[in-house]
Amino acid sequence: HTPRGVPLRVEGLRKEFGGIVAVDGADFAVEEGSLTGLIGPNGAGKSTTFNCITGVHEPTDGAVHFRGEEISGMSPDSVANRGLVRTFQIARELEEMTVLENMMLAPKGQTGESLWRSVLPGLRSGIMGEERKILEDCWEMLDFFEIDHLAHEYAGNLSGGQRKLLELARALMTDPTMLLLDEPFAGVNPSLEERLLEHVHELREEGYTFLIVEHDMDLIMENCEHVIVMHQGRMLTEGTPEEVQSNEQVIEAYLGG
Ligand code: ADP
Ligand code: MG
Repeated sequence: HTPRGVPLRVEGLRKEFGGIVAVDGADFAVEEGSLTGLIGPNGAGKSTTFNCITGVHEPTDGAVHFRGEEISGMSPDSVANRGLVRTFQIARELEEMTVLENMMLAPKGQTGESLWRSVLPGLRSGIMGEERKILEDCWEMLDFFEIDHLAHEYAGNLSGGQRKLLELARALMTDPTMLLLDEPFAGVNPSLEERLLEHVHELREEGYTFLIVEHDMDLIMENCEHVIVMHQGRMLTEGTPEEVQSNEQVIEAYLGG
């Protein structure tokens, strides 16, 4: 295949929590426009790796580069402003707001403007300029994910799968070029899972890059072109789904728990 750029590089990443070594020297890169899977048994260090990449945790050692710039140690906002975002579960406060309000309150891309004060009254009194545009973007995004009919529903009333769609829609409002999804299909029924996957593939075709942590091995193997395997904080192997599936160490790590 034609060579592609490598937006994300993780080098010698290490994260300790007190005496616990959660990530013990992870090294990997993610290709532009790929759907890359990050798998490994429970406690392998996958979520901690995501948190170090997106600025939630500061690495103990090692470096993360995004589009040629070192981002390790930056705040989550700074990382997101560079176009690298992860999905977050809908926070409790946001459950008491509607789907549309959730979208309007999602952190916005390059503008860096806080809409907390201005947007909500604006929804009632008429919106001008920039805010009008954001509202249109929100509707467009809800329409893309086929949850526009839920716009005025409280987020707390959504099903597990609908929440996952909203989480992804919210993340996209920050105008990312790369998305990190941590178990995006957990608790999602099969038909919604299918839809969510279709959207991920559509977005990838538009040029977005995805790194996905997912428990369901079959799902990763069927949908990802490249798979990275972590075990006990380290990289076990990486390769195509076929290569990874037939790797003895991977089989052992999963059977060994
Ligand atoms: P995974 O997502 O692959 O299941 P995690 O990254 O969540 O793994 O966890 C890796 C290890 O780090 C586990 O032993 C976990 O208990 C530990 N760990 C994760 N986060 C913290 C934390 N905030 N404080 C202490 N230990 C943590
Ligand atoms: Mg995890």
